[in-house]
Amino acid sequence: MDQVKIGKFIAQKRKERGLTQMQLAEKLGMTDRAVSKWETGKSLPDASIMLELCGLLKITVNDLLSGEVISMENYNEKTEKNLIEMVRQKEQSDKRLLTMEIVIGIISTVFLFAMIAVGTVLMTMGAQIWIFFLLFGLGIVQFIVAMMFCLRIEQVAGYYECRKCGHKYVPTYKSVNMAMHMGRTRYMKCPECGKKSWQRKVVSKD
Ligand SMILES: [Zn+2]
Repeated sequence: MDQVKIGKFIAQKRKERGLTQMQLAEKLGMTDRAVSKWETGKSLPDASIMLELCGLLKITVNDLLSGEVISMENYNEKTEKNLIEMVRQKEQSDKRLLTMEIVIGIISTVFLFAMIAVGTVLMTMGAQIWIFFLLFGLGIVQFIVAMMFCLRIEQVAGYYECRKCGHKYVPTYKSVNMAMHMGRTRYMKCPECGKKSWQRKVVSKD
């Protein structure tokens, strides 16, 4: 610790608060000689009065011991803001993903039925049966791939909320895949309380 730096810092903060050495000393129940010793770097304020001194100078003990105002609070505030922004962005991208899931689901279903319809029409026009099965197979394969993709979106976007304890979590792909479901609401076991319930999909964690 740099006692001289700390001393200068105490003097600077004392002046900023419009106090003389005498006035500060009186508030602390000390002599102005003691304050003078701190400010010239000859001694450090005793630990027993450090909190009170910092309170009067409107600084933290960390500031005092560093001999300068350290921007920890600003840092925390900024970190907090960044975190909030990150959460907000995740929520937005999750919402987009869940919308995309619906779009993919619709397109893929339409494509499947279109393949069946085209195959049927071609058959009535005299095409061979393998053409029907080729188109039908194509429709089924893309449908399965699309459903797997949708399930993956449903697993990672947002959270599932336990009906029993309110716990919100991201389930495993397997548990989402195996669960009975009605739309996005799935019957799954909560990892927190271990109870099974119909769990809702939620985008926000709070
Ligand atoms: Zn639970």
